[in-house]
Amino acid sequence: MVASYTQLLARRYNGKLDSDADEFIAFAVDGARRMQELINDLLMYSRVGSRGLELETVDTGRLVDRVISDLGGAIEDAGATVTREAALPTLQADPMQLQQLFQNLIANGIKFRRPDTAPVVHVSAQAQSGDWTFAVSDNGIGIEPQYLDRIFVLFQRLHSRAEYPGTGIGLAICKKIVERHGGTMLVHSEIGSGTTFEFTFPARGAR
Ligand code: ADP
Repeated sequence: MVASYTQLLARRYNGKLDSDADEFIAFAVDGARRMQELINDLLMYSRVGSRGLELETVDTGRLVDRVISDLGGAIEDAGATVTREAALPTLQADPMQLQQLFQNLIANGIKFRRPDTAPVVHVSAQAQSGDWTFAVSDNGIGIEPQYLDRIFVLFQRLHSRAEYPGTGIGLAICKKIVERHGGTMLVHSEIGSGTTFEFTFPARGAR
């Protein structure tokens, strides 16, 4: 209601009041839109914890292909190249959550790009004594070593919204999804050259 009525005010009265009024209405429209975005992301975060895991046999290669296709618009806009290793495993996981996980990581790889470099994101996986370790790597802006722990915390962001839009909830969701499946998540990064997010899925052990 707040969003639709402020948008209605903006449409109907833009230019008919004074310039202060136009500005105030624009702030209200933007605030309502942002509140919606935050609420949606928070609901997603809370659902990852409260819903039971629905484990199924998931072909992660096909799942990553679907995520890449869903992100087609963003990939095209950024001039990005997103690839995956041919051999990705089939494992027991909650397919919706796994999709969310890859979607957040690949979308971040595209978003946090260097201004002068087309984004390149690659998804790979390695077997280690029955467990699988996935990696999503990019050639983006990188993260300073002292902030590497902070990025998984709810609402923590390293940049202003004007530089890179977002709510700061995506990686907290990713970490929770991985942990619910009994795995661990970590990040390696070099400032100015790129970031790799790694997460391990135990062969058996989803919680
Ligand atoms: P959001 O993307 O909404 O800001 P996230 O929780 O996904 O929130 O990420 C938290 C912060 O971690 C980001 O604001 C950014 O500073 C940093 N970050 C995440 N992914 C990357 C990446 N691939 N490269 C560089 N920085 C990243």
